[in-house]
Amino acid sequence: MRKLVRVNMTDTTVRVEELPEKYRFMGGRWLTSTLVADEVPATAHPLGPNNRLVFAPGIVTGTAAPSSGRISVGAKSPLTGGIKEANAGTPVAQSLARMGIAAIVIEGQPEENDEFFVLKLNKDGGELERAEDLAGLGLYEFAARVQERFGNTGFIATGPAGEKRMAMAGVCCNDTEFRPSRYAGRGGLGAVMGAKGLKAILVDDTGAPGVCIANEDLFRVGLRKLSDALREHPITRPGGTLNTLGTAALINVLNEAGGLPTRNFSSGRFEGASRIAGETIAETARQRGGKTGHSCHPGCIIRCSNIWARQDGSEHVSCLEYESVWALGANCGIDDLDTIAELIWICNDSGLDTIEAGVTLAVAMEAGLAAFGDGQAAIRLLRECALGTPLGRILGNGAAFTGRAFGLTRVPTVKGQGMPAYEPRAVKGIGVTYLTSPMGADHTAGYTVAPEILSVGGKADPLLPHGKADISTNLQVATAFLDSTGYCLFIAFAILDIPAGFEGMVETCNGVLGTAWSGEDATAIGTQILRTERSFNEAAGFTRAHDRPPEFMRYETLPPHNQVYDVPDEEIDRVAAVLTESR
Ligand code: SF4
Repeated sequence: MRKLVRVNMTDTTVRVEELPEKYRFMGGRWLTSTLVADEVPATAHPLGPNNRLVFAPGIVTGTAAPSSGRISVGAKSPLTGGIKEANAGTPVAQSLARMGIAAIVIEGQPEENDEFFVLKLNKDGGELERAEDLAGLGLYEFAARVQERFGNTGFIATGPAGEKRMAMAGVCCNDTEFRPSRYAGRGGLGAVMGAKGLKAILVDDTGAPGVCIANEDLFRVGLRKLSDALREHPITRPGGTLNTLGTAALINVLNEAGGLPTRNFSSGRFEGASRIAGETIAETARQRGGKTGHSCHPGCIIRCSNIWARQDGSEHVSCLEYESVWALGANCGIDDLDTIAELIWICNDSGLDTIEAGVTLAVAMEAGLAAFGDGQAAIRLLRECALGTPLGRILGNGAAFTGRAFGLTRVPTVKGQGMPAYEPRAVKGIGVTYLTSPMGADHTAGYTVAPEILSVGGKADPLLPHGKADISTNLQVATAFLDSTGYCLFIAFAILDIPAGFEGMVETCNGVLGTAWSGEDATAIGTQILRTERSFNEAAGFTRAHDRPPEFMRYETLPPHNQVYDVPDEEIDRVAAVLTESR
């Protein structure tokens, strides 16, 4: 039996129920978005008692399927005002799945704003306890105390920024060595957790029965096909790009393409790119005794993560991945990896989304609060968030809020969420994804960079404004399904290029669930998820006017290509036309 755990933060009760039949085959994003759409009034305040926070491991999470330890977190977002799903790769996702937990739904909220609890889960059920001295802690200190008190217990937690209900706060999970470093970062879900009075979920999977697999033979066939594809593709194979250089290999690639947003999206090239690139990170890790080829959870073939060491060889932070290095580096004009590592450490400790933090810091620099490139000033500004000073509370609510507070027009957000590390004026398809995803600006929602820059899954000219709606729609649909399986998005490189890898992904799902889905069924499921999400957003007040770029990108040219964002509105709206039919 797959279980649904309902946690009521108003009366502090925990109920374990059988997962209703309607949700039987769902996992990950499919399950979080459907539960949010079913149970949260679209006009509810994101930080109020009627919002619900949902956690769901993916369909194959907890099995031996490679790179499949993802957990989705869903709610109405305080950053965008729309539906949100963000996911993280973490051993705690695997633990929950092995305990038979399909979803945890957090309802209500305590009457007192400063009351915090921890939810303790084990194979027999769960209970809420007062967080006592765990509340208010930075997440490194929190993780150390949890380990000291409960041993190697998996956790899902919110940091000081989330406790203070800042819309830049993410949900933090432990990595393989119990670092607080794996984030469902986007959309302010850490603030929803804080508003629920939930400091953390502590997971003890001792004696867990494991994931029930309906068709072992089919599962093994699929697992073999997918593993072979991952071991073959040059980007995902052991010794391949992601394994040796990490995701920050993209820094030089995007810089070369003129699509690396620099100094608050005022240029597509950064003169300091090579100093913060994946190649430099890997070489420095080798010299100092850091680590590349690290894994966020057991069972990953790709192993894209890393551990950064200080000059004296001591561990500093995990991990320096592309988005964080770009956001807190190039986008702020900072080219020193030790400074960037410290900024990432502060984000991990405070419970902040590194992307939103970097986009916000750059907006603050634009406003004159610090000079571009001033790393020490960036560190001081970011520390204000955790402290909750008045300025910290402005910054902690994200780039759009900060831009409004200081009267700026160059604010790179869509639906209130900061743009990630690909400049839409130089990579026009990813702009269509930013504009039309129900999540706000989100590169993971439909990664057109694959065909536009990396020649994966086809080839498209990144500077051409036409033909991008179909590419974005197809990738958004495929991603919505992938986000439901529990697989890491980075398997996409292999399954887009190697048909047997895609078959293997679907077969492992069929093996677990006892279904007989085809590739077309996967597409239909992805489409259904997006329609559910878009229909929630429409009920919350979103229209096609919200699927538009920030105006400055329409008239301000971006060096080095000197282009504006010229994808026509009619092209952008073709995505919505496919994805807005009623459920
Ligand atoms: S590829 Fe990277 S992010 Fe994905 S599961 Fe492996 S280590 Fe985690």
